[in-house]
Amino acid sequence: MKIKLTKQGSAKLRKKNPLIQREDLQQAIETKEWVTFIDQANHFLGVGYLGEQNKGIGWVVSFEETVIDQAFFAQRFAKAKGKRIAYYQDDLTDAFRLFNGEGDQLGGLTVDLYGEYVVFSWYNATLYQHKKAIVAAFRQIFPEIKGAYEKIRFTSELPESAWVYGKTAPEPLLVKENGVTYATYLNEGLMTGIFLDQKEVRGQLVDGLAAGKTVLNMFSYTGAFSVAAAVGGAAQTTSVDLAKRSLEKTREQFAVNGIDPDTQRIHVMDVFNYFNYASKKDLRFDVIVLDPPSFARNKKKVFSVAKNYGDLVTDSLAILAPDGLLIASTNAANLSPRKFQEMIEASLEKAHVAYECIQSYRLPADFAVDKHFSEGNYLKVFFYQMKKE
Ligand code: SAH
Repeated sequence: MKIKLTKQGSAKLRKKNPLIQREDLQQAIETKEWVTFIDQANHFLGVGYLGEQNKGIGWVVSFEETVIDQAFFAQRFAKAKGKRIAYYQDDLTDAFRLFNGEGDQLGGLTVDLYGEYVVFSWYNATLYQHKKAIVAAFRQIFPEIKGAYEKIRFTSELPESAWVYGKTAPEPLLVKENGVTYATYLNEGLMTGIFLDQKEVRGQLVDGLAAGKTVLNMFSYTGAFSVAAAVGGAAQTTSVDLAKRSLEKTREQFAVNGIDPDTQRIHVMDVFNYFNYASKKDLRFDVIVLDPPSFARNKKKVFSVAKNYGDLVTDSLAILAPDGLLIASTNAANLSPRKFQEMIEASLEKAHVAYECIQSYRLPADFAVDKHFSEGNYLKVFFYQMKKE
């Protein structure tokens, strides 16, 4: 099937941008077939598919005329595997992203390695239709994988999480990253217990950034940053998360690293309540990690990074040591790195503190980014060092 794009849509594809948006189509159309995108003069632009997902309505998967079949998928997987040799060679890490959607020239699917197991994440129903051929191609290129699970990240009747093939993974499944052990659960909802895109930031904490320091980890989830800091010699860590399950999960992360959870602080609490509590108690931290979800709805209020990150910075400054380090992080794709920094720096300036941005991180190399689609590089992390005046 041929699909005609608007002038602007065609121009985007000529620049090798792989994401199709609603306004790029000459007329509204829905199909689950593979399609050929053409311009106003009926010239070939690319091959791909339409499929509604959280972002966009389709992907170009090749800018050359090609048949999309199992061999095509196998070729994509083989190329992706080749790009990750450095991770395979690292004995201290056995969990990383094997395949990153459009960054590996097949938007709509990611595959993560957890030791000897993998997790497929499907972002739209169209690509999911081709699951059989895709999984077969994957097994051809990754025969060493013992078992696989999947996450359904589009609206559907399917369960969010399911077993796909092979052996079932132990629960918890212990994986390693930078020599730290993490307890993961491959078949519990959409999340596994660790966000693999933060490996470089956790790596810094393990490698001495937190040594001898008190560390406050806000929006801590399973406490991955806290555990990395504790293994890296932190004097003490404090983890704060609203979700009840975070307590038990965070205790487990410490325990699997041989650290007595009772020596660390873990609070099931709204971060804004914790800021009040810590200010009243006059607590001070050497390092504060602020890595919230892009959006969160609590009983009382709605939080969004784009609107409220500055408040988090302001509240952090009240309990950060005068020569402390603020690790500011967001995965909000709708916020440019510059905008994010402007928000942070507006709060720092309002508080009249002297600071220096000493380090920044974007997605690590296993989260391959398409150079023609920089929006795909959603992660932004900045290290702000405060300076005593
Ligand atoms: N920083 C974590 C990931 C955070 S995921 C890591 O690197 O592993 C987002 C977490 O924020 C979830 O666990 C959620 O329960 C928590 N959360 C959302 N709103 C919150 C709030 N107002 N106060 C505390 N935690 C919150």
